[in-house]
Amino acid sequence: MPPAQQVTMFLSVVGPIAGLATAMVLLWHRGPASIGWPEIIAMVGLYTLCGFGVTIGFHRLFTHRSFETNRFVRIWLAVCGSMAGQGALIRWCATHRRHHQQSDRHGDPHSPHVHGDTSFDLLRGMWHAHMGWLFHRDCPDSARSIADLMSDPALMLIDRLYFPLVFFGILLPGAFVAAITHTWYGFFSGMIWGGVMRICLLQHVTWSINSVCHVWGRRPFKSGDESANNWLFGLLALGEGWHNNHHAFPTSARQGLRWYQFDSSWLVIRGLAFLGIVKNIRTPSPAALEAKKI
Ligand SMILES: [Zn+2]
Ligand SMILES: [Zn+2]
Repeated sequence: MPPAQQVTMFLSVVGPIAGLATAMVLLWHRGPASIGWPEIIAMVGLYTLCGFGVTIGFHRLFTHRSFETNRFVRIWLAVCGSMAGQGALIRWCATHRRHHQQSDRHGDPHSPHVHGDTSFDLLRGMWHAHMGWLFHRDCPDSARSIADLMSDPALMLIDRLYFPLVFFGILLPGAFVAAITHTWYGFFSGMIWGGVMRICLLQHVTWSINSVCHVWGRRPFKSGDESANNWLFGLLALGEGWHNNHHAFPTSARQGLRWYQFDSSWLVIRGLAFLGIVKNIRTPSPAALEAKKI
């Protein structure tokens, strides 16, 4: 991996963990007073906003083209997804398209399953699938698979502005909490809880889709890999935990395919469609669902 990319990944991974440690130190020293309603609102608000930027934007729209929307919403989703601090847009999508092409085979950038046959190998594989892959070299021809994204100047600009956007996503909750509390401490604690701590939580929830959701859960559909539906990450990852459904029907905008599989990203897409903002939504037909049922 080129040194500049290594530094990027190091900062993206270690920075939020340092934020988590700072939040723990604050809790230890100041007790519950270190976090109030303004911090909780900032954290939940930014988690949801940036989370939908990743799930609806980076994943379902840019990687899988599972629906169409206007230019403003595309840019909005790309900006919110970038503030999640999970890597710049173009690399995120290139890696994920490769994951679907080679899922759980050699060439999959983050499979837990191609590292050997023992339990220790699976554990090693899960570490690789969760975070280790971030420090590996990209596939040399990955640019080929994202020509559609690279031909969009607005997306390329947002991709280049990745670090300023992550930084903005940390300053924003700081400013929000400071505006309510009128204190410098509020600015600091807003940046910690709503910024770096929120990035840390969302990163590990998202990366658990690669690690946990390729190991533990139910597999109702033939997907040709080890992807699994995991209800916990269905909730935490805003609908992305229905991962066996997703690998069986990658271009579906809806991942919680049953009424009892809560998929908050799908509800937002449906809401946007109701308002006329989203169109040409792709979902599997009843015949396609039946054909892939195990
Ligand atoms: Zn997967
Ligand atoms: Zn996908």
